[in-house]
Parts: sequence; C-alpha cells; structure tokens
Amino acid sequence: MRRMRNVKVLATLGPASSSEEMIRALFEAGADAFRLNMSHGSHDGVREMYDRIRKVEADLDRPICVLADLQGPKLRVGEVAPDSELIAGASFRLNLKHGVGDAHAAELPHKEIFEALEVGATLLLDDGKLRLEVVEAGPDYAETRVIVGGLLSSNKGVNVPDAVLPVPALTPKDRRDLDFALSLAVDWIALSFVQRPDDVAEVKKIVNGRAFVMAKIEKPKALDRLDEIIDIADGLMVARGDLGVELPVEHVPGIQKLITRAGRRAGKPVVVATQMLESMIDAPVPTRAEVSDVATAVFDGADAVMLSGESAVGDFPIEAVAMMDRVAQSVEHDEQFRAAIEAGRIEPETTTADAITLAARQVAETLKAAAIVCYTASGSTGLRASRERPAVPILVLTPVTQTARRLAIAWGVHCVQTEDASSFLDMVIRASRVAEGEGFATTGDRLVITAGVPFGSPGRTNILRIATVGTERGRPRD
Ligand code: PEP
Repeated sequence: MRRMRNVKVLATLGPASSSEEMIRALFEAGADAFRLNMSHGSHDGVREMYDRIRKVEADLDRPICVLADLQGPKLRVGEVAPDSELIAGASFRLNLKHGVGDAHAAELPHKEIFEALEVGATLLLDDGKLRLEVVEAGPDYAETRVIVGGLLSSNKGVNVPDAVLPVPALTPKDRRDLDFALSLAVDWIALSFVQRPDDVAEVKKIVNGRAFVMAKIEKPKALDRLDEIIDIADGLMVARGDLGVELPVEHVPGIQKLITRAGRRAGKPVVVATQMLESMIDAPVPTRAEVSDVATAVFDGADAVMLSGESAVGDFPIEAVAMMDRVAQSVEHDEQFRAAIEAGRIEPETTTADAITLAARQVAETLKAAAIVCYTASGSTGLRASRERPAVPILVLTPVTQTARRLAIAWGVHCVQTEDASSFLDMVIRASRVAEGEGFATTGDRLVITAGVPFGSPGRTNILRIATVGTERGRPRD
C-alpha cells in the first residue's frame, strides 16, 4: 500500500479507536503511525491496542510505527470544594499540605514547585484559564494574587512557565510506563515536559537503543536549549497544547516554524501536534482554519501531523484521518509546495553519507527517477534521505524490522523489510523488484540506489548506483 503523499499521519488511539477493525480502518484511511497515550488507561488496555496494531501490520504486510507518550511530571492542585471561584484581585494561597481547598486556598502537593518559585512568578491553573502571581513564597507555601479568576475544581493542572522546575524528567509512573512500553517493543518513546537536554539524556540512557526518543517541546525553558535537546533526541514534537498554556498562544505558530526548521536541519523527525482538526471530535467536517493549520505544517515540511482527541475519543476518527490525508495530498500537489520545501533546503554535513545522499537527490531529480532506494540497517541513511526532502519518493530497504517501523514516521519514506543486498547485482535486482512490487516503478524506470560496500556492514553508505528497472535480470555485470 503506497501513500500518495510525503508527510505522515500520526493518530492517537483511545476509546473511539481501540478495536482491531478501527485500527485497520484508520491505517487504510491514511494513519502511518499510532500514539498510545500513557496518561490514560491501564497497561492491559495499552497492551491490547499494541497487539492489535501488530496484527493489522502483519495482515497488511506494512510496517506501522507505534509511539508511547509518557505523561511526564504533570503538576496538579489537590482536592477543591465545588463552586470554588477565585476572584480577580483577591489573595489565594497554595500550601504543600492542605485539606479540601476553596476560593481562598488549596493544596499543591509538589515541594519542588515551592523551591523554584520567586516573587513575581506566574502560576497557571486549569490549562491557563486561571492566572496567579506570586507575592510571597516559602518552602511549603506561596501567597498569590489572582490575576485572572474563575472556577477552580479538584486536580486541575498547574503550569509554571517562568521557572526551570527541579523535577525529574520521569515520575515513578513514567518509569513504570516506560518499562512497560519497552517490554512491548514500541518504536518511539515520547517524553513530556522536557526542560533540559539532561532530561532526554536520562531517558535515552534507560532506553538504551531499544526505541527512538522524541522530545515533546512544550516548556518555554526547553526553547532556550533547543539545539542541545535536538542533538540528543531522535525526534521532536511541537506539543502545542501545553506550549499554548505556558506561552502566549499567539507565539505558538512562530515557535512551530522554529522547531520544524531546527528538526529538519538536524534530520530528526518533527511531529506537529494538538487541535489540528479539533472540531472533528464532534463534527464530520473541519473548520477552514483547521484545514489551513494542517496545510501550514505540510508546507513547512513537518514530518508528521498528529491527531489527539479527534481519533482517540471523537465521533469521526476515520473521517479525521482521511481529511488529513486529503489536505496533505492537496498541499503536496500545489505548485507552491516545492518552492516552500526548497526554501527550507539544508546544507549537507561534510560526511560521505551526506554527500552520497545529496548526490542521490540531485541525480534522481535530474533523471526524473522513479525513486531513491536506500539500503540501511540503523535507518540513519533513510533519515538523511528524508532530510533532503527530495521531489521523488524514498524507498528504505532494511533487514531490521524496528528500523522499518521507526522510519514510518519520517517524511517521504516508504519502508520495506527485506534481506540486505549481497552483491551489486543483487542490490539492483532487489531494489527493482521492491520498487515494482510496491507500485513505485515499472520496467524502464530509473532508480537511484545508495548502499554501503562491503555489503552487510552497517553505517557505511558509500556508493550510489543508477539502475533501470527490468534490465539487470541476467548475468552479474559488476
Ligand atoms: C500537547 O500538550 O500538545 C501534547 C501533545 O501533549 P499531551 O496531549 O500529552 O498533553
């Protein structure tokens, strides 16, 4: 099954989409990857969804990427009595320990927040709907003034945009969820509320190569050290939900472009997430503004666009995926799309693999080749090819199941699991057979192939070969 677009669609699974039939229907409608949100549901429920994805993958014989999204250190107030309305201008106290809260005070059971608070800092409650300013802070309390009031209810989230909080990257729940997700063999782990490069480094150390790690950028402080975070992470998510709480919401579009460009430069997949087709949670068609939002991410060259509530709990999960597919195809066929992608073109690094990959794009575009075919074990050559954003499709041939799955989220990449080439002739015949079989080429079409010689030695892309499909079936020429 060949997608007629380069950008990928990542769909969150949930109660509306957890059955095998729905997972299959979502894949057939265009979902390339599925997100399992560890904030909700039991491990048993997540395992069931994971097993169903793998069943659909086996039935359809296409690699499917699975991303487990860790909840991260989400901070919350304690219990609050009903009808507790905070009034603008009034005082409101947060205490480390407190009984049931009310309009004057509530519990905030996170010692580390009090340690990091300074006078003048902003506290945002309930996704930023309520805003407090700290007027006095101690080790177990903060006296605040209500700037924007409203009703406060139990367990609402708390954001502290101005401070780097001394909280660990992983809560005890995250550690349990991470172990569990790795035991399932998910392809990507997404880390929430990344504040510093060390947060990503800590998770990468635990993961130890068993999955790729995606840093969710949703804290303003993470932006201060974005390049260092990108260096360590394998991919990025523009987590616009929390980003739009912690920062003025009008800053989010510019930051989305900044993160997308930085990810592209580094050759690390970037996912644009949250509220992309929000109204489709309960309507079969999106707003024009939502369509435009998806289109912007595609024009910017994001690797993937994500559905959250739309596919997890909405009434129209299949329609939402199909809509993303249609918007993406339409944008990519628009004559302005290539110009937008070219404008974001990135200089290659001075490595053999980068030089070969750049050359492969140039040769493929000059010859109007049917595809670039990359032999890769780790996937790094496939990601390099994706980073080039070529005008022709990229076929990634890999003997490693997990590489095929991990790269299914990368721009323009169609992964096929196959044995490594054993000779030049085998390399060409195998590439031709796959390109024909997957619907990318027919007899007489040209392919631009990259691989590493000696064959079977990973991490060594050093050759580029132009082949014509159907002409090299006989005696080896090499
Ligand atoms: C977000 O905040 O945009 C996001 C993707 O994270 P979550 O949905 O887990 O809150």
